[in-house]
Formats: sequence, C-alpha cells, structure tokens
Amino acid sequence: MECVFCKIARGEIPAHKVYEDEEFVAFRDINPQAPTHILIIPGKHIESLSSVAEEDRELLGKLLWVAKRVADELNLKKGYRLVINTGPDGGQEVLHLHVHLLGGRALAWPPG
Ligand code: 5GP
Ligand code: ZN
Repeated sequence: MECVFCKIARGEIPAHKVYEDEEFVAFRDINPQAPTHILIIPGKHIESLSSVAEEDRELLGKLLWVAKRVADELNLKKGYRLVINTGPDGGQEVLHLHVHLLGGRALAWPPG
C-alpha cells in the first residue's frame, strides 16, 4: 500500500494545502490538536527522522525553513510549537517524515 502522505503530496487524495513548492507540501491536520495544526512534509518519501540519511541534511534545513515560513504566513504572533514524532515511543503513526506546526492556543509542557 502506498503511503497516505505521498498521496497527499501528489494530489491523489484531498487535503487542505496551505503551502506547496517543488520539494514540500504543508496542509491542515485532519484531526487538529490546536486551533492551528499544520503538517509540513517533504514530497520525497522518508520514513522518519531516524531514517534520514546524510545526503538529506539540506532537505532537513529546508523543511524547518518551510515550517517557519508557514508559521509566519499564518500570523502566529504569540508563538507556536514544532513537533517531529519519531518511532513508536515518539508516537509516530504515519511513516512519512512530517513536522507538526501547532499554534493558536497556549500549549502545555511537558507533553504526555
Ligand atoms: P504522527 O502521529 O504520525 O506524528 O501524526 C500523524 C498525523 O497525521 C496525525 O495528527 C493525523 O491526524 C494526521 N493524518 C493522518 N491521516 C491524515 C490524512 O489523510 N489527512 C490529513 N490531513 N491528516 C492526516
Ligand atoms: Zn510517503
């Protein structure tokens, strides 16, 4: 079975996209945990942060840059949180590298 985020990146299943370029897509999470909850993904299928190779160091930098740009666009003036759930203990459910951008309310710490 093809990965759901690969399908979203290719436009094969619908998503509310808020940003898209040649390498990355950002779209609204289907089950938002905050007033603003966006997922930023590379179009390239990489399973998780733990499986990123050295050749993808530049991609990682750009991924964070896109997250920052999207946060700016969405006017999250009071701040926000970026999260990369990684592996089973990290609570990762979709095995395609993604950054959660959460904002629009004060977020608790530590996470559960
Ligand atoms: P993870 O737990 O892997 O870090 O987060 C996966 C996220 O993807 C979850 O917050 C979940 O709500 C979201 N998600 C899963 N399937 C879909 C989908 O088909 N569309 C959208 N927009 N979000 C999805
Ligand atoms: Zn994928």
